[in-house]
Amino acid sequence: MNEQSGRTEISSLGEFKLIDLLTQNTEIKHAATLKGIGDDAAVVDHSHLVSVISTDMLVEGVHFDMMYTPLQHLGFKAIAVNVSDICAMNATATQVLVSIAISNRFSVEALEALYEGIHHACQYFDVDLIGGDTTTSLKGLVISVTVIGEANESDIAYRNGAKPGDLICVTGDLGAAYCGLQLLEREKQIYLENPEIQPDLENKKHIVGRFLRPEARKDIITYFKEHGIKPTSMIDISDGLSSEILHICKQSACGAIIYEDAIPIHEETYQQATKFNIDPLVCALNGGEDYELLFTVDESMGEKIAQHAGISVIGKITDKASGTFLKTRNENLFKIEAQGWNSFPDQQ
Ligand code: ADP
Ligand code: MG
Repeated sequence: MNEQSGRTEISSLGEFKLIDLLTQNTEIKHAATLKGIGDDAAVVDHSHLVSVISTDMLVEGVHFDMMYTPLQHLGFKAIAVNVSDICAMNATATQVLVSIAISNRFSVEALEALYEGIHHACQYFDVDLIGGDTTTSLKGLVISVTVIGEANESDIAYRNGAKPGDLICVTGDLGAAYCGLQLLEREKQIYLENPEIQPDLENKKHIVGRFLRPEARKDIITYFKEHGIKPTSMIDISDGLSSEILHICKQSACGAIIYEDAIPIHEETYQQATKFNIDPLVCALNGGEDYELLFTVDESMGEKIAQHAGISVIGKITDKASGTFLKTRNENLFKIEAQGWNSFPDQQ
């Protein structure tokens, strides 16, 4: 380490020592993990369960900005967004593989911070880190995570199982991450113009936290299991409610009606959106990265769903010919489209 800067160059360690350093505290908790880091491949035994597998990549400058992204949070987020995809299948995430491409702009200490977040998330979501790859990039940082989960085949919730009459439900609140991102982008501009001004993010913890360090709703999957609920369809909200409900409707060949006044929006989101002159509803419909779950259940599950304070029933599945609409507070109907929502032109 350079005594003055406190910075250790990656080149002073080399690839193998770096991997050892970053993965030395890795704990294996799942009996299904027969072999983790250290061989040419990991070995996993899911016996009678099916394996559920997904992967997601985060690219510097595209998915995150190093100016306002603490590396611990980034490591946590990289795992959380992958676990969220497994939750969205109504499955349990059990293992992850983490691949990174790094330039010499990053110090060993920076990567240790990234892995602190990764290890923390692995503990928090109860997944084993079982491998990955480490390579060089010319400029930015790239993190690619592959997640493996398990489930009884009959428990899996696909996007295509919704049917007319089903309740449309959403967990938590929507639009917060988008508002958090807008706020961080604005603070960045202010800082670039005048580095003396420190960002004031007091009372913005919810929206900023949502963007920088999102949760995967594993707790909801546990709730489903404990209460005998099986969603007829499910998806995690990474691109905004509009886009996700359209995925469900398209794949399930049905329509939907969503009630504006039922869409959960956090107080901080309201305040920030209003300050930015954005309609909070638009944040919920089109703002991404909330990583909440959108799912449908049979009407008979209504009571069990209502018992959970963190789940909102926001609408109903209809038949395909009825289309996909939002009913506003004053009873107007708007056709839901992936980006933005246009007024209801053809009928009425
Ligand atoms: P190989 O050359 O056979 O691909 P590596 O030397 O790249 O093997 O990796 C050695 C071990 O360390 C493997 O188990 C691999 O999965 C793991 N590994 C490599 N890079 C990472 C990383 N960034 N995070 C976690 N595990 C890693
Ligand atoms: Mg390798």
